Amino acid sequence: MSVSCEKCNSKAGSRRVLTVHNLNVHRQTLCKYCGLKFNNKYACAQHERSHTGRKPNACQAPGCSKTFAQDLQLQLHSKVHF
Ligand SMILES: [Zn+2]
Ligand SMILES: [Zn+2]
Ligand SMILES: [Zn+2]
Repeated sequence: MSVSCEKCNSKAGSRRVLTVHNLNVHRQTLCKYCGLKFNNKYACAQHERSHTGRKPNACQAPGCSKTFAQDLQLQLHSKVHF
């Protein structure tokens, strides 16, 4: 007896296969701040950063979105905007 996925209608050989399918294909990550759903954890992590405010060592100049691992790199970079 085959079962079909209620989300995408693809057929699976068994309920166990369907469970694996669901985990792999339809796994969603929720934003822990606003509950928005994401299809992958990377997109979610990126979105969550928008709730936590500024990124560490991000250039604050308008139109520039460079980020730096080190504070010093940002200081050096920020000179290009003056
Ligand atoms: Zn599916
Ligand atoms: Zn959110
Ligand atoms: Zn910059």
